[in-house]
Parts: sequence; C-alpha cells; structure tokens
Amino acid sequence: MHLQSTKRLANGVEMPWFGLGVYKMTDRDETIAAITQALQVGYRAVDTAALYYNEAEVGEAIRHSGVPREEIFVTTKVWNSDQGYDNTLRAFETSLKKLDMDYIDLYLTHWPVADKFVDTYRAIERLYDEKLIRVPGVSNHHQHHLEQLLGKANIAPVVNQIEVHPYLSQQSLRAFCEEHNIAVTAWSPLGRGGVLTDETILALATKYGKTPAQIVLRWHLQHNILVIPKSVTPHRIKENAQIFDFELTNQDMQTLDALNQNKRFGKNPDNFKFDF
Ligand code: NAD
Repeated sequence: MHLQSTKRLANGVEMPWFGLGVYKMTDRDETIAAITQALQVGYRAVDTAALYYNEAEVGEAIRHSGVPREEIFVTTKVWNSDQGYDNTLRAFETSLKKLDMDYIDLYLTHWPVADKFVDTYRAIERLYDEKLIRVPGVSNHHQHHLEQLLGKANIAPVVNQIEVHPYLSQQSLRAFCEEHNIAVTAWSPLGRGGVLTDETILALATKYGKTPAQIVLRWHLQHNILVIPKSVTPHRIKENAQIFDFELTNQDMQTLDALNQNKRFGKNPDNFKFDF
C-alpha cells in the first residue's frame, strides 16, 4: 500500500485511501498553497464542501497542479440549507461551477436534515444516473438514517463520511456500513488534533519512531477507514502522508481501540441544529 493506493468502492470506482481535508481553509493563498503542496507530495484526493467556501480555490489549485483532473478524486457536499430534491440539484450546479469542473467524484449529503435527507439523496442518485458524479454518498448518517435510505434508494450510498478517531471509534456504525458495503471515511481523523497528546498514543509514537498523527492515521487505515486529515502546514502535510512504511501490531491496534470514550469533537447528527 502507498499514498496513491485506492479502495474499490461498491460501484467499482477506485477511491484513494488518503486525501487532504480543507475545512476552515479560508485564506485564498494559503488554501491554494496547501492543496498544491499536497498534490506535489503525492496526495490524489481533496475533500471540500459548499460550506467551506473554498471550492473555487480547490478547482484552481487542481487545474494549475499539472496533475490531470481524472487522477484526482474530488469530494464536495450539499449544505443543510440547500437540501431537498430541487435545491440539491441547484446546489450541485453551483458547486460544479465554483470548482469549474465537468463532474465531481463523490457528492455527499453533508448532514441528514430531518424531513429532507431522503429527498436530498434522491437528487444525488439522479446526478449519479446523469453521470455528473462518479459516486453517490452521505455524511454524518447514523444507522437509522442509512436504514431509511436503504429502504428507498435504487443505489445504496456508497460512502458514509463520519467522525472517527481513537476517542470515537464508531464500532457499531462501522460494522453496519461494512455489512452493507458502504465505505467509511473518517472526518476529524486526528480528533482535530485533540487525540495527539494522549499518553498511550505518545508511547506508541516513541515505540514505532513515528509521530502521534502518523500512529492515529495508520490505525484508521488498518481498520479499512479512508482518511482526509487537514493541515495547511507544509511539514505536516508531508508527515501525515508518511504512514505506508510501517504496520501496527494487532495488540497495538487493540490498545488504540481501547481508547474509545464515544467522545465527539464535532456535533452528533441526532442533536445538531441544522437550520443555519
Ligand atoms: P483533523 O482531525 O484532520 O485535524 C486537523 C487539525 O489537526 C489541524 O487543524 C491541525 O491543527 C492538526 N494537525 C494536522 N496534522 C497534524 C500533525 N501532523 N501534527 C499535529 N497536529 C496536526 O480535523 P478536521 O479538519 O476537522 O477534519 C479533517 C477533514 O474532514 C476536514 O478538513 C473536512 O474536509 C472533513 N470534515 C468533514 C465534516 C463533515 O461533517 N462531513 C466535518 C468536519 C470535517
């Protein structure tokens, strides 16, 4: 396995295991510099969203990178206030224009807005039928949300992007997704940096001669979880990708699993105020 290795998704599309998250990258030059550097280091996936207000910068950095568009896996998401069938189709057009692309690789419902997420996903299925997206997916969907979709969808969501890190291992939702061939991507894979001072993780970092971030990202990969860590710092962008030259033992995987405390750094989809 290496930085450009891919996972074959349920619909046959190959998705890189590793990508750059660009949430909170609001400074134009900094955003373009971070994506440019990531692509130079070898990253081949970028995770943005309409909410991040940087789709234009993502498109620009990719166009100027010299890497062919079709070699880069681009994810974006429909924001909560744009959900519902017609609104989602319109929001997609806007995202496509801002990215200045002909298609998007993966399009996600950002959060399951009650009374809307089923229609939102119907629109995503239509975009898939029209070949405007290569992969239909969702984000922040609990099992009960997925069950609602699975009962109605023509094509089941192929990806569910959820918060996962050693303090929130999401074991049962991951097992449900695996059973239904839904790939799991971890957002905040580093717990927004909040797990990196954990003593157990620090001790493993010393043992393997790796950094805490590398230990945590490797734990995700060994659990078949796709990752999109965020950084704008050049040495961290490089560091985060250097996780393909070592392997955690089963015992150390279990030690990391035992750190779970069901602790969220982000919101719980079941009690999130969607109306902003
Ligand atoms: P993350 O877990 O990737 O942590 C990012 C933070 O960790 C950085 O801001 C930096 O402070 C620190 N960091 C990064 N690399 C480091 C290193 N090597 N050493 C020390 N510190 C380091 O958190 P995130 O940005 O919240 O999540 C990653 C991506 O997931 C986002 O950028 C976004 O693309 C996506 N995301 C999606 C959702 C969703 O609802 N679908 C929500 C949040 C984030």
